[in-house]
Amino acid sequence: MPTAIEIFKHLPKKNCGECRYPTCLAFAMQLANGKAKLDDCPHLSEEGRSALASSSAPPIRSVKVGVGKGAVEMGGETELYRHDKRFFHPTAFALRVTDEGSEEKVDGRLAYARSLRFERVGQEMGLDLLELECRSGDSGRFIGLVRKVADGTDLPLVLRCHDPAVMAAAVAEVRERRPLLHGADAVNLEQMAEVAKTAGCPLVLCADDLGRLADMVGMARKKGVEDLVLDPMPADPKETLERCTIIRRSAIRRTFRGLGYPIYLSIPEGRRGMVMAATAVMKYGSLLVFEELPAAQALPLMVLRQNIYTDPQVPIQVRPDLYPVNGPGPDSPLLFTTNFSLTFFTVMSDLEKSKVPVWLQVVDTEGLSVLTAYSAGKLTPESVNAALQASGAKERSRAGVLIIPGMVARMSVKLNEATGLRIVVGPKESSGLPRFLRS
Ligand code: SF4
Repeated sequence: MPTAIEIFKHLPKKNCGECRYPTCLAFAMQLANGKAKLDDCPHLSEEGRSALASSSAPPIRSVKVGVGKGAVEMGGETELYRHDKRFFHPTAFALRVTDEGSEEKVDGRLAYARSLRFERVGQEMGLDLLELECRSGDSGRFIGLVRKVADGTDLPLVLRCHDPAVMAAAVAEVRERRPLLHGADAVNLEQMAEVAKTAGCPLVLCADDLGRLADMVGMARKKGVEDLVLDPMPADPKETLERCTIIRRSAIRRTFRGLGYPIYLSIPEGRRGMVMAATAVMKYGSLLVFEELPAAQALPLMVLRQNIYTDPQVPIQVRPDLYPVNGPGPDSPLLFTTNFSLTFFTVMSDLEKSKVPVWLQVVDTEGLSVLTAYSAGKLTPESVNAALQASGAKERSRAGVLIIPGMVARMSVKLNEATGLRIVVGPKESSGLPRFLRS
């Protein structure tokens, strides 16, 4: 992504404000931060537009697998380090299903894939894709597996088969679902590229040598396949770290654009696989396909992914609303907290622990915690009162009492004036709530 100054050189410099920003420089800064679009400036010349469009394309190509709402997007990344801006598309997780097992085994695998779901800080986490592998060498078995799984799940699919004729027959079954095809190697590249081009599907290129991988990118593009994914075939965590880092760095630093594509990794069973997967989540893996993924390994990996791919500039938030806790009635007291999800879930868990029925009003503070929001002027007596009114909290809780976080005890008088409720100062730490409420 070019800098604001580089963008500014191509702008009309009229400072007319029609892009919603007062000056062309302000617009350039927003564009550099990804908060504005080129089309917002109606005066941009064709020359400037094409110069900016090509230089602002992400250095890692964005590739979509699947269609509609459940489609998985990979790549499109612009940064080497998350703190420079953010990472955009979380590492996708897929489970492998082979055509070697019985029908019951496939059914069991599909049921397990559906059940592998967790909720953390209000976000749902689970598998993103299924990979179907032709391991038997029997095209009839493989196509049967593709049909069965396509009927049994809406998840996007990866088809893994190195025989171009079998791949062509299998992809014909699910072409409209835009599966990812794995994979083209040095031997079958031409035919696989033909299959991918005919089906309009993205293609994985496989080679354990990055130079060869780059050559294959050039050949696949010459055949007309642009949506590519790279499988650098690492054998252990060290190779995973090395190869993924070289691919990402050469693309982001623009030292070699030929490797600017999402990265596919096949994760073996066991401890080595777990370390490879954790390394790949932290270091640029776009799609991890697991031979096995027990729930005890899936959860920490998904939490790690959630942490790495959270936008560091936008705190995770929950919906501002009135939440009943422990079955409250009209006589139950009212408390409030902010919509920063870590604060919310900590407070919620402590309230549940107390077993005391209460109403919890969550105030919109743009995801800031209590003290930060108060210091930034985003948690005020007026904003608390507005939240209580919007949710009808005073009608639901007729106790006439508002328990406030001890950190903002100084708001008491003004809160009493704004809400008309008796203010009770609660504990400073959420962990003190069970004892406080029970007493
Ligand atoms: Fe500059 Fe275009 Fe914005 Fe006008 S609309 S201020 S010319 S960037």
